[in-house]
Amino acid sequence: MVFDEFGGPVQIRRVADPTPPLGGVVVEVHATGLCRSDWHGWAGHDDGIRLPHVPGHELVGVVRAVGAGVEKWAVGDRVTTPFVCGCGVCQWCLAGQAQVCPDQTQPGFTHWGSFAEYVALHAADANMVAVPDAVDDAAAAGLGCRFATAYRALTARAHVVPGEWVTVVGVGGVGLSAVQIAVALGARVIAVDREPAALALADGLGAEHTVLTAGADVAGQVHDLTGGGSHVAVDAVGSSAACATGIHSLRRQGRHVQVGLLPNVAGHPEVPMDRVIAWELDVLGSHGMASVDYPGMLTLIEAGALRPQELVERVVGLSEGAGLLPSLDEAPLAGVTLIDPRRD
Ligand SMILES: [Zn+2]
Ligand SMILES: [Zn+2]
Repeated sequence: MVFDEFGGPVQIRRVADPTPPLGGVVVEVHATGLCRSDWHGWAGHDDGIRLPHVPGHELVGVVRAVGAGVEKWAVGDRVTTPFVCGCGVCQWCLAGQAQVCPDQTQPGFTHWGSFAEYVALHAADANMVAVPDAVDDAAAAGLGCRFATAYRALTARAHVVPGEWVTVVGVGGVGLSAVQIAVALGARVIAVDREPAALALADGLGAEHTVLTAGADVAGQVHDLTGGGSHVAVDAVGSSAACATGIHSLRRQGRHVQVGLLPNVAGHPEVPMDRVIAWELDVLGSHGMASVDYPGMLTLIEAGALRPQELVERVVGLSEGAGLLPSLDEAPLAGVTLIDPRRD
């Protein structure tokens, strides 16, 4: 799946197979998620993308070629990868914080991605994650971006504890992931969205309340529902409005986690810092999750405590996915859509 200009046609055509980079591998893609970040890339909001470009950054598949210097992986291994691949050697990577590596690579952004039969991945020993047999492709495909990002946002960043209120603004793929994970952590969840169909999915995942954004004072409703505000808020959309709604929904000393991307396409977003100061709010960024943090999450998935496969609404081929990508902004998909490049 290729585009030759930002905002232009998205085509399916044959390109050269990737070769494994030094220290990297080539993976045959078995399932890959269609994410709003892919739309940002297509729209020209990521200045790291060079044209022509193949998008796609969350995936599961099987190693088909191994580059020089790779020690841990062999042809036939079933793997996934964080969308942020650390270099493996800098101080951040060595400290287990590859999600902020200054020399990171990202499939589908810094190089061609997973909306293809094969994708090249860098620094394989540092970034690849073995996928247990009990975790199927539908469950594993979203781990590289949406599910792991939501998991890290709620655990390592917001430190959600049982009984706390968690308000999730925007319940697309990453938002629904956050709802399911927060419920599993014992939190009481409020889901906020402009689409009734998305709220119905959140309700099915255990959200205690749902709030439709249309013309409503969302933050006021959250304060009423929670008796003074949410302990934690997640902007899972990435917009000034969603960010402000999250912050205004918090109680005093609450924690806001920014997960949705806010690319600087129309100036930096307004953030209500007056409230942040007066109520001593924490504003936290969250950027994927390093491979070293995957085992805890995978254990919960294997045990059935987390069920990312339940978020998948449909699986399509590359051609259908190409038709969906340009409209992801104005017509967001309900739930998670996966692409299987082996399908027509
Ligand atoms: Zn690094
Ligand atoms: Zn993504």
